[in-house]
Amino acid sequence: MHHFHGSCHCGNLEVDYSTAIAPADSAVRACQCSFCRKHDARAISDPDGTIEIIVNQPDLLERYRFELGVTDYLLCRKCGVYVSAYSQRDSEAYANVMVNVLDARAQFPAPGPVHLDGEDELGKWQRRAKNWTPATMRILGQ
Ligand SMILES: [Zn+2]
Repeated sequence: MHHFHGSCHCGNLEVDYSTAIAPADSAVRACQCSFCRKHDARAISDPDGTIEIIVNQPDLLERYRFELGVTDYLLCRKCGVYVSAYSQRDSEAYANVMVNVLDARAQFPAPGPVHLDGEDELGKWQRRAKNWTPATMRILGQ
């Protein structure tokens, strides 16, 4: 297993990503939605891996939502960095991680564009349950 640690710029939001996929073999995705394009986001995930999001200061976590409103785009309110997209239904959650926040970001290859427009809520959930990484969120100080 490979273990990758990452964080937003100020360290409020941290991510621990474990995967059997080596960085060079990772399929890095540049989502072409209006939000991801503004961040020049590069995302990775592994359905056989795990992601833990650690929130050090809960009041500085932004769960930005748009369009269907079924996804939490996790941003730090202090430094503005986009860390992860997080999708939860009941106790089940899947996430991806933005390569740009990982300490090892330079090891990952260039992204390929993906277009995901036109999905409905169920379609999004089914794709994420298949392709994204099982995720947990640990909120400290609560
Ligand atoms: Zn921050």
